Amino acid sequence: MESTRPTRIEIDTEQARLNFRYVREHLNAGTKTTFVLKANAYGHGSVEMGKLAEEEGYDSFAVAMPEEAVPLREAGITLPIYILGLTLPTSFDLVVETNVIPAVSECTDLVALNAAGKRKNKVISCMLAINTGMNRIGVPAEKALDMVERIKLYPNLKLRGFFTHMANGDSPDQESAKNQIKLFKAMFYHIQAAYPGEEFVFSMNNSAGTLAFPESQFNSVRPGIILYGINPLSTKLDGEGVKPFLSLKSRVTQVVRLPGGVSIGYGSTYTLPNEMTIATIPIGYADGYPRILSNRGSVLIGGARCPVVGRICMDMLMVAVPDEVAVKVGDDVVLIGTQGEEEITVNEIARLADTIPYEIFTGLSLRVPRIYY
Ligand SMILES: *Cc1c(COP(=O)(O)O)cnc(C)c1O
Repeated sequence: MESTRPTRIEIDTEQARLNFRYVREHLNAGTKTTFVLKANAYGHGSVEMGKLAEEEGYDSFAVAMPEEAVPLREAGITLPIYILGLTLPTSFDLVVETNVIPAVSECTDLVALNAAGKRKNKVISCMLAINTGMNRIGVPAEKALDMVERIKLYPNLKLRGFFTHMANGDSPDQESAKNQIKLFKAMFYHIQAAYPGEEFVFSMNNSAGTLAFPESQFNSVRPGIILYGINPLSTKLDGEGVKPFLSLKSRVTQVVRLPGGVSIGYGSTYTLPNEMTIATIPIGYADGYPRILSNRGSVLIGGARCPVVGRICMDMLMVAVPDEVAVKVGDDVVLIGTQGEEEITVNEIARLADTIPYEIFTGLSLRVPRIYY
């Protein structure tokens, strides 16, 4: 069923391609690119983004769990797909069925993983997670060699490479990232010396790392947020290749003129200081528009900023429309994006909601249709 909802997410695929090119063009020669598609491509639609990335020459994808690989495989995407989180034995059959590359650590039940491969007569390619300071998943770099030898004991497992994750790649103080790089680099040389001729993948850099630390690209990088147009660094990028390409839009469903002294919404948290025009928009926190923006956020109507008044409801919110704007039912509303001269960025929303753009993007619910142009 085609959605008839006026509330929608619009995705500009031309700008998406420009971002994808920008990132690939700024890598060291020969660096492979893993496009991070987890959480439905940060809310942008993993199948659509995956297909575009494939066309733009990306080498592989990464998602958080094997379930996220299912729609990609069903859409005919055949590139390698890495799993960024650890999986439990209950997911191992799906790992084999979706032909993904799981992360393993000391805690992984290698016997069960090997058995899952054996049942389907498949060799499971896996990545060893290395902990260099994030302390989330993985084994310390000193244990890498030991783990390589352990994995070799299982005929239905094949170690494809090693990855680690930066805790502070976006920090202006680079000391923490540099310490992590040092540890991973030492392991890289150690492994290369121990297994000459093996072509392992070594992957460290997320978006921040990719932009700030060309020295830790090794042979592969894993950017996410930068591809979606958000620069994680506090410094400016050279050129202007990267821009957000997701807009959140809706339409006005009611316009009323209300007298001063009346209150709006649940809890009556906003009282009109004088007669005002109040418009109702059919989007709420169940769509991922954060409730904390009640009496704080604003939307664009007729090219003007209209403050959110009263509490944001599950499926609706109300805004005060300035008197100079001739608003009517059906008018376009921009919640994220540009209208006329005005712009509301996902960074602005994140700041007002005391969070990061990642959470705003990934919180946009599946109830909101995505439209690609
Ligand atoms: C999410 C994630 C990435 C991508 O991070 P960005 O900051 O979006 O570039 C890379 N690697 C791992 C392990 C991740 O969890």
